[in-house]
Amino acid sequence: MNNPTWTSQWQDAINQLQNQLPSQKFDAWIHPLEARKVDDGIFIACASNFFINGLKADCGTIFEACVHDVFGQDIKIHYEVSTPKVKKVDQTTDKKSPASKVDGNIDPRFTFKNFIVGSSNEFAFAACQAVAEKPGESYNPLYLHGGVGLGKTHLIHAISNQLSQKDNIKIAYRTGERFTNELIKAIGSRSTDQFREHYRKVDVLIIDDVQFIAGKTSTQEEFFHTFNALHEIHKQIILVSDRNPHDMSHLEERLRSRFNWGLVADIQPPNLETRLAILASKAELAGITLDKDVSYLLASRITNNVRELEGALTRLTAFSHLTKKSIDMDMAKNVLREQLHVVVRSITIDDIQKKIADYYGIAPKEMKSNKRSRNIAFPRQVAMYMSKELTQSSLPEIGSSFGGRDHTTVLYAHRKIDAQRQEDRAFDDEISHLLNTLHG
Ligand code: ADP
Ligand code: MG
Repeated sequence: MNNPTWTSQWQDAINQLQNQLPSQKFDAWIHPLEARKVDDGIFIACASNFFINGLKADCGTIFEACVHDVFGQDIKIHYEVSTPKVKKVDQTTDKKSPASKVDGNIDPRFTFKNFIVGSSNEFAFAACQAVAEKPGESYNPLYLHGGVGLGKTHLIHAISNQLSQKDNIKIAYRTGERFTNELIKAIGSRSTDQFREHYRKVDVLIIDDVQFIAGKTSTQEEFFHTFNALHEIHKQIILVSDRNPHDMSHLEERLRSRFNWGLVADIQPPNLETRLAILASKAELAGITLDKDVSYLLASRITNNVRELEGALTRLTAFSHLTKKSIDMDMAKNVLREQLHVVVRSITIDDIQKKIADYYGIAPKEMKSNKRSRNIAFPRQVAMYMSKELTQSSLPEIGSSFGGRDHTTVLYAHRKIDAQRQEDRAFDDEISHLLNTLHG
């Protein structure tokens, strides 16, 4: 049993965590935790191993630091999987906690709130929201498809996270692979009846990466019957695939036609604006700030896969934490050399001079001339600034490419443009835009 002092200490730890973590992280990982005192330490109850791993990966260090801070360094922290008990004393009903109603591994971080909507995914997003509002009523089945890393799994976990707040809804979430493996096991142990029963009792069945079952005859057969049984009694079915039903080769025709019964929605790769918004949101979740140029660099180079974009951000964040340096263009180019190598190599001072001359309507040769009138000197300074930002050239090298100027002239130009960017928002936007067009 937890005594009052202990409970208030635990509350202290929670309060510390609330102050130190971004609210989304706190809500996702800390809020659902249950803690119990044991002889040598503290037991943390989590809904699943999946949750434990996520908690540790996402904010394990801060979590343990706060617990040790409050309870002392010697205390041991044990994680255990158990259905969280009824929360807080004031809850008199035996309402089940959200996590207990979902059978399957759902990531609590994937919510509608955390999903950035743009033209590439607004239809899929709206469809998923409609299904989460009225499961079994609006679109059944909902079939979501699109390329790798575009947010399909995020959206269906969001449905599940939202539905799990409602009472009396049983959700089963499976990947096509796991569904198939379970079935094979059931066949092996002659327990297919139980297998069937289990799925037919749920209110919402979600199968992620359903393409996995195509070509597997017995799985398709079983799924077909489960599908019909659930659909007949208006239970919601949600299917996700990397391709649309027509392109699922080896899919039995009768199953394909059923997939088309409800709503088929696709997700396309996000445009630049959406990629920038996703990046900003992920950075905020991670509790870091990204400056505009670095965001542009990432979002303009990593275009087809949000997971890769996130991966780049994670790498930068880790590097910045390890070296205790803030993230800037130099670091980004360095750390993400492999992901971005095309950029780093492809932009030359010559490209920059041409582009900037063109933008300001002067002849490229003026970049190297002696003229010092403002309409020429200013674009030249911008081009020097960009050369330092976008190439690996040293200051003397840049100077010599601008008609044999001294490296201090380049340094001066860089500082001047930098200062002007800080002061003038419109100019800052203009430079970001130019940097971006040079990248692309
Ligand atoms: P898929 O299942 O389509 O392969 P995921 O749903 O696993 O892709 O998405 C990969 C990563 O990208 C996840 O971390 C997810 O949160 C993120 N992601 C994708 N699209 C968006 C979006 N529009 N807004 C926020 N995060 C997104
Ligand atoms: Mg997925």
